[in-house]
Amino acid sequence: MTTLERPFIAGERVHEFGAATFSSINPATEAVIAEVVQSSVEQVDAAVRAASAAQREWAKRSPDARARALWRWSELILAAGDELARLDTHDIGRPIRDSTSDPAGCARAARYWAGMADQIRGEQLPTVPGHLTYTAREPIGVVGVILPWNGPMLSMCNRVAPALACGNGVVVKPSEWSPMSAGLLAELAIDAGLPAGLLNVVLGDGRVGAALVEHRGVGAVSFTGSVATGRLIASAAAGKAITMELGGKSPNIVFADADLETAVDAAVWGVFANTGQVCCAGTRLIVERTVAEEFVAQVATRSALIRVGDPLDEQTQLGPLASKMQYDRVNRHLDDAIAGGARMVTGGGRPAEAGDVGYYIAPTVVCDVAPDSSVVREEIFGPVLTVQQFTDEAEAVYLANDTAYGLAANIWTENSGRMLRVAGRLDVGTIWGNTSRVMDPALPFGGFKDSGVGNAYGDGAVQGLTRLKRVSVRYETDAPVPRWPR
Ligand code: NAD
Repeated sequence: MTTLERPFIAGERVHEFGAATFSSINPATEAVIAEVVQSSVEQVDAAVRAASAAQREWAKRSPDARARALWRWSELILAAGDELARLDTHDIGRPIRDSTSDPAGCARAARYWAGMADQIRGEQLPTVPGHLTYTAREPIGVVGVILPWNGPMLSMCNRVAPALACGNGVVVKPSEWSPMSAGLLAELAIDAGLPAGLLNVVLGDGRVGAALVEHRGVGAVSFTGSVATGRLIASAAAGKAITMELGGKSPNIVFADADLETAVDAAVWGVFANTGQVCCAGTRLIVERTVAEEFVAQVATRSALIRVGDPLDEQTQLGPLASKMQYDRVNRHLDDAIAGGARMVTGGGRPAEAGDVGYYIAPTVVCDVAPDSSVVREEIFGPVLTVQQFTDEAEAVYLANDTAYGLAANIWTENSGRMLRVAGRLDVGTIWGNTSRVMDPALPFGGFKDSGVGNAYGDGAVQGLTRLKRVSVRYETDAPVPRWPR
């Protein structure tokens, strides 16, 4: 029996009579798992109003009271972890072994931001004699959070927790491709003691997102998604505070002197985990020519051992793509690469284990790629690794930077001077040296170039979620006041 997934507004699930719905499909079985209500413009308005009213109450609470509610939210998320994990796995085909660890990441975000609730403060600026000047960081009011589909519960908690800690109300719009866990997370937040209405979820496609972005009551937009949508939102949200976390085409640079065994394993996990649907996946292997043949052979061997299958099976390491749309898109990229003369070292089609049902594509390694081909230039967001070779450090840096994106990069070398030189020359917001995808709510993670604006993690997040007020008070009576002489 399919369920009906409804928006969560002002502390309760709501359903307008006659509202349009759309189907949520399990990408492993291609079966409908739920009918989802598409929120109307009126519903978006109700959600923003509810958030605005509740925010006034929330902002009056002491930071300590806010912290306690966020901490309690983290505990309820952990308690509901199995249910949340199953929702995301059914929704996007994320292997259950990965989904099961996601609630711990969500809880960590809620706890980190609970701890930050009384650390959001301004400065005293002693530049003008006889005056006390201070700055204060105030909540913006209502934050519209618009999310992609590739890591539903984690991306929601990592965007929502800082917005709440900064004293804001929130309206979330999850992707229409992954609508299932957002409502439960919001329910748990209200159960944890947030005022009803402080965290709301509206459901539906880009039209619902657009209505949220354009709403006059929304003061800040936290957007995670594609560059194309980011551009539309940047224009529609002019005048609002904007944080954008967009796409990537991250290089994985391997020098001949690296710990190659570890680098092989990390390269494989770094590009194929979550079926390659990760913004900062290391999708471009850039490897030193002298070791390239052997390194790529080992990557191919290791990739062929990945356990592909039913995402509900604990043993599965790689599930299907999240949707038919994404499956078709990745296949189009692979067809273009083959037509352009690229060579598939491994993968390139449906894995034998997958049978005929589900949106599966085998882990794919592509060599002999033209530097201007779409498989090298465009974010594929699937299990596809391209290989390029370099002769020296300068060429490695050139190839790594030769992209419109600037989200992240991996560097593998045992030469510490080279590690620091290359890190300094890469045009990306995050660099992992001799490791892969280390993430934490406390650590900055923001994109350069087309990969984004602002930062959704760590201290940087506070800038996009608060407004900075300056107050200058003259206390020395002989300090000059700007005026015409009498
Ligand atoms: P998308 O841009 O298609 O959609 C993202 C969200 O925007 C969805 O909720 C969608 O409904 C909404 N939307 C669409 N049109 C809109 C409009 N006109 N106004 C307002 N909202 C609108 O992206 P996607 O395919 O869902 O996600 C994949 C993308 O997200 C990839 O590019 C990936 O790299 C990126 N991503 C980035 C990060 C990061 O931290 N930088 C993290 C995860 C995903």
